[in-house]
Amino acid sequence: MTNTEIYSQAGDAENRDVLRSMLRGFQCRCPRCGEGAIFKSYLEVNDHCPVCKLALFHQRADDAAPYFVIFIVGHIIIGSMLFVDSTWHPAVWLQTLFWIPLTIILSLLLLPRIKGAIIGLQWANRMHGFDGGTDSAS
Ligand SMILES: [Zn+2]
Repeated sequence: MTNTEIYSQAGDAENRDVLRSMLRGFQCRCPRCGEGAIFKSYLEVNDHCPVCKLALFHQRADDAAPYFVIFIVGHIIIGSMLFVDSTWHPAVWLQTLFWIPLTIILSLLLLPRIKGAIIGLQWANRMHGFDGGTDSAS
């Protein structure tokens, strides 16, 4: 028996493409319809999608988003900083004025997007209650 047959028997045969769901989440949009907003504020997740009524309260992004943001921003900033420092040797005060604000801005921009992508991943893989049984609030 394939997974599709199992989900059909459970009344949940919808296609949940992982990449598409994560991209929609990265755009801070509902992983199912791609239109409704995931967040009601900066990082606070809506209980349900305002468009398709997908229950989003199942999400358990927890500390994964900050972990990935630190990992990504750290690699971008440290790599760039080492390259700039070894190539042009700018003054320390100049580097401080440039790298610290860039780190903060990049982290704040990425945090909700990474959290949305994680929620999309969880929905696509039917994790944490996203198994279809209680997806719609109708
Ligand atoms: Zn939706």
